[in-house]
Amino acid sequence: MSNVLNNFLTENLDALKNQGLYNEIDPVEGANGAKILVRGSELINLSSNNYLGLATNPELKQIAKDAIDKYGVGAGAVRTINGTLDLHVKLEQKLAEFKGTEATISYQSGFNCNMAAISAVMDKNDAILSDQLNHASIIDGCRLSKAKIIPFNHSDMEDLRAKAKQATESGQYNKVMVITDGVFSMDGDIAKLPEIVEIAKEFDLITYVDDAHGSGVTGKGKGTVKHFGLEKEIDFQIGTLSKAIGVVGGYVAGKKNLIDWLKVRSRPFLFSTALPPGDVAAITAAVQMIIDSTELHDKLWENGDYLKAGLSKLGFDIGESETPITPCIIGDEKLTQEFSKRLFEEGVYAKSIVFPTVPKGTGRVRNMPTAAHTKEMLDEALAIYERVGKELGVIK
Ligand code: PMP
Repeated sequence: MSNVLNNFLTENLDALKNQGLYNEIDPVEGANGAKILVRGSELINLSSNNYLGLATNPELKQIAKDAIDKYGVGAGAVRTINGTLDLHVKLEQKLAEFKGTEATISYQSGFNCNMAAISAVMDKNDAILSDQLNHASIIDGCRLSKAKIIPFNHSDMEDLRAKAKQATESGQYNKVMVITDGVFSMDGDIAKLPEIVEIAKEFDLITYVDDAHGSGVTGKGKGTVKHFGLEKEIDFQIGTLSKAIGVVGGYVAGKKNLIDWLKVRSRPFLFSTALPPGDVAAITAAVQMIIDSTELHDKLWENGDYLKAGLSKLGFDIGESETPITPCIIGDEKLTQEFSKRLFEEGVYAKSIVFPTVPKGTGRVRNMPTAAHTKEMLDEALAIYERVGKELGVIK
């Protein structure tokens, strides 16, 4: 290794470790369900995005196995050569039905969906108004496009309006986009989409909503855009297939001409191998389950409300969450990591989340209750939270 690289790595890794910002990764030794096995301990899992418990659903596992038997384990090529299987076409039709749009396009991950979609439409002559707390993949997608990035204060509609006015009236840009998460993943709050749409109409902004944490969760499972009845107003509806859907992948839902354009211009669609057949078959069936029944959705919200009420009653700061995402905001990074470590020792897996994922000084343990948790598991988790919270002086 070159000395320059070695010095760079040593200095920076040591600095992160000293500041309590180095993230240790624990391999999970089995399924990522309501309970997980880590370092030989079975723990109540409050860290996965498997909102509806579909990642371990037996019917979906069987559907994936059957598709592997028929099609093999890989798609074999990029979508535009011969990697488009009939399964991909069915999936995209199912997603369009789910989202209430003319068409959809799927990608290999939610992350690369944002890299793909933003840069296929925006360029250096454009501007993007981006919520300050948008997900890293949105930020990177914006950067890749080379458009001017204009951040607005988190969910601050006056700031957005002022910046939209300035950007459009300046005459400097060909197109201006407003881009936001549908549900903010670290705090669980919901974007103010009706106000965003109003501002977008006034200034002819392109609207882009990444509903990674909303699909399957808000709008009776159909997502945040549906929750507000704005399916006709949002140009780009982004979703992941890795969270409530339980598998992997991402998609854009929108008008047919937008999807046609992404099929010829978005680089991960053109240059990266298509989603594997077993995954695609399982995803299509998972989406159908969400369309057919709200049972899992209802259970998720019941569990989310129960955990939130319990943590709040114990005196934890659970922030402003409007969804099942339940942060316990602790503040100091080292204390946050110690808290998470003690939860682990007592039987709860709830990972600490610190800078740079959240701003400095707002370290938190983020809890993700799912439809697969039982009341007993949540009660046990709350009892552990109480014990550890008192021991570390986070609650009285
Ligand atoms: N967008 C948002 C808002 C997210 O929270 C995430 C997941 N952390 C992603 C995109 C990336 O999705 P995926 O994990 O499917 O790549």
